[in-house]
Amino acid sequence: MSRAYNFCAGPATLPESVLRQARDEMLDWQGTGMSVMEMSHRSDEFVAIAETAEQDLRDLAGISGDYAVLFMQGGASSQFATVPLNLLGEKGTADYINTGIWSKKAIAEARRYGEVNVAASSQDNGFTDIPDQAHWRCNPQASYLHYTPNETIGGLEFDFVPDAGSVPLVADMSSSMLSRPLDVSKFGLIYAGAQKNIGPSGLVVVIVRKDLLGHARPETPTMMDYKVTADNGSMYNTPSTYSWYLAGLVFKWLKAQGGVTAIAEINSRKARKLYGFIDQSDFYANPIAPRFRSWMNVPFTLADDALNDAFLQGAEERRLLNLKGHRSVGGMRASIYNAMPEAGVDALIDYMATFEKERG
Ligand code: PMP
Repeated sequence: MSRAYNFCAGPATLPESVLRQARDEMLDWQGTGMSVMEMSHRSDEFVAIAETAEQDLRDLAGISGDYAVLFMQGGASSQFATVPLNLLGEKGTADYINTGIWSKKAIAEARRYGEVNVAASSQDNGFTDIPDQAHWRCNPQASYLHYTPNETIGGLEFDFVPDAGSVPLVADMSSSMLSRPLDVSKFGLIYAGAQKNIGPSGLVVVIVRKDLLGHARPETPTMMDYKVTADNGSMYNTPSTYSWYLAGLVFKWLKAQGGVTAIAEINSRKARKLYGFIDQSDFYANPIAPRFRSWMNVPFTLADDALNDAFLQGAEERRLLNLKGHRSVGGMRASIYNAMPEAGVDALIDYMATFEKERG
């Protein structure tokens, strides 16, 4: 068996050592005679797995006791509704920043529950830049300000945390969580679908300031009420136990790499190498303003679209997989999350150079 380099945007590559450990523990987790998948979520064993994962995430991201950490289901997409249901409150109005496809989805869903003010948008420049915060039209009375720190499809990433004043700042960190250091205390709420930097799909991690709990609208489904989830240790119903366990292994792996500061250095280097190669070439291009280029998702185009299929085929032959860009933007996209080894980026650049020489 040989592992391919998988550049998928999500579900994404996981650390090989994590997969090996999961394999070794598959049939008999630490002498219990059963797989984690077969354990009661109320058992002492699973509760210990769950609590350890939460503590490791708290350590990694520096999450204080002022915040609840929730392990929910339904992916980041259900958070698009869960956030307004819990946070819109009486005021019923929220600010959103529109920087691409995922922001738009969050906005469309929130509009079902209240008034949404798009305080800033990069639609006019084709989502290649982020407007200066001085020009945002924020409502100081808003229930919260929502933004998407990293647009997974467009490859557009904030290099700053917006200043929301006393308005709770809400972030969809699905594709950037744990990729670089983060000051959680600046946020009211952070959510992240797991299937990029955290673990398998099916799980979504929510970090929420405790004073924001308990304000859900009466019609909020019980399963979507943050307070109910927090009060029940994310076990109001049966949680996604195996994903939670796998996330715990990924957190341990990240700690062993030296944590978020150490991985950020590697991520920055991987991204600089790939963008640097794209920029020195006349054959490949990336449209994003350099300051806001994503460290995690690198979209690029070839000078001639007619060569796309040949590029992808050659990549597959070298076991460089899932480089096809999102259907809405075309071209290519290399997702280089925490678990993508630097050697994977080197192999991609090597292939890109060869392809350009032969076909460019
Ligand atoms: N937000 C962002 C930034 C994403 O990248 C994704 C998934 N690619 C989603 C939301 C939706 O996540 P899910 O499929 O877990 O609902």
